[in-house]
Amino acid sequence: MDCLFCKIINREIPADIVYEDEHVLAFNDINPQAPTHMLIIPKTHIATLNDLEEADLALVGRLQYTAAKLAKEAGFAEEGYRVLMNCNEKGGQTVYHIHMHLMGGRRFTWPAG
Ligand code: 5GP
Ligand code: ZN
Repeated sequence: MDCLFCKIINREIPADIVYEDEHVLAFNDINPQAPTHMLIIPKTHIATLNDLEEADLALVGRLQYTAAKLAKEAGFAEEGYRVLMNCNEKGGQTVYHIHMHLMGGRRFTWPAG
């Protein structure tokens, strides 16, 4: 499949992998928007949030849970951090394999631009 993140999962493209288990993979974003910026992805290909099915709900929980775990390990869980998922063109999605952005190490403003 011609999917960048599937290729990272399959080790066809290198990435700075920070966490892996049976269901999810996490790696550093190539263009970080914060001192720590990781992407957490499911190992199964799901293109967008709109493609989620009920059977995927536990998987999405794993993405969120992994984000919190990595935030604790990185040392910014208590001070705070940002987790987000972009969906489709107006949402800013550029890679069509769902991914959770985990960003920490600076202050984030809200509402976001
Ligand atoms: P999106 O804009 O789809 O929410 O996020 C895609 C993210 O993937 C961007 O933050 C971008 O910097 C990151 N990205 C794109 N290509 C690569 C790559 O080849 N390797 C890594 N590690 N990150 C990538
Ligand atoms: Zn994929």
